[in-house]
Amino acid sequence: MTPALIDPFARAISYLRVSVTDRCDFRCAYCMTEHMTFLPKAELLSLEELERVCTAFVRMGVEKLRITGGEPLVRKGIMSFFEAMGLQIGRGLKELTVTTNGSQLRKYAQALADCGVRRINVSLDTLDAMKFAEITRWGRLAQVLDGIAAAQEAGLKVKINAVALKGFNEDELFPLVDWCAREGHDLTFIEVMPMGDMGEAQRIDQYWSLDDLRARLAERFTLTDLPERTGGPARYLRLEETGQKIGLITPLTHNFCESCNRVRLTCTGELYMCLGQEDMADLRAPLRANPDDAALEAAIRAAIARKPKGHAFDYSRKTVSGQVSRHMSHTGG
Ligand code: SAM
Ligand code: SF4
Repeated sequence: MTPALIDPFARAISYLRVSVTDRCDFRCAYCMTEHMTFLPKAELLSLEELERVCTAFVRMGVEKLRITGGEPLVRKGIMSFFEAMGLQIGRGLKELTVTTNGSQLRKYAQALADCGVRRINVSLDTLDAMKFAEITRWGRLAQVLDGIAAAQEAGLKVKINAVALKGFNEDELFPLVDWCAREGHDLTFIEVMPMGDMGEAQRIDQYWSLDDLRARLAERFTLTDLPERTGGPARYLRLEETGQKIGLITPLTHNFCESCNRVRLTCTGELYMCLGQEDMADLRAPLRANPDDAALEAAIRAAIARKPKGHAFDYSRKTVSGQVSRHMSHTGG
């Protein structure tokens, strides 16, 4: 194995998130516009190229790989990529995982488990079928719930990710918590982030601070902060009455960059060293120009050497500052 990837702030980079497509079968209101223009297919890395880049990262010390998008499970032939990455488990890779909207899980949950996936994140903001159709525009709740059931049947541990949206799912805080307790799912709430140009007013309107969400949880439960950190942006608390663990991802109210261990690869081969900054490195050119991986590895090292200290998202002055122009589906959420 080549030496580990260490950034200028002495953070070891052990986690790669890979967006395998910018396309999706949903159009969530906070993520995409209704009529998105997607990248021409020729721009995308082939599945073989994605496999080459990810394998290089594993060789260079990446232990955790999260496959995301867009909706990763709508990319044609994606299971061959999961199979290839599954073979890296035990050869440096410790965890292969996926973030999905759940729509294709009935079809693919067992195949994912067979590739060595053990845990998955499923995004679900509401348990109300009408509201689900409204927020995802094209999604159907029953299909997603059935996909989650298929994941459980396949033995996958499910974590639900819910974006906290003011005036939308505030009234579903306890129903979501109770449903996850009954079903045995972990649950994490995410603050809405300023990704992609969706209009500033709309973004401020959507923002529901997790400090407020936490205060509401405290009205019904005794909360204990848990010390555990996964190197990621989530902080955890335990609801003493149920024993449930709740994650809070708070890029706006609490900065989490000091423990950042991750970088993000887009489906076109751009490497973003920070979700909230515009700087990126093109890995596609060195990948395509050379049949061996020396230039690719050099490009990866050069990119990590300029990983910034942190993002600059800030809502504190009631305007959106630090906004980045990319949609979340491009960088991979
Ligand atoms: N399609 C898959 C899914 O929905 O899980 C994977 C990609 S999606 C971009 C990954 C995560 O990003 C989802 O949990 C989604 O809710 C979240 N997300 C999308 N746009 C966001 C935004 N503007 N702020 C915060 N989270 C966002
Ligand atoms: Fe698709 Fe996921 Fe974005 Fe929703 S959040 S539009 S499911 S990529």
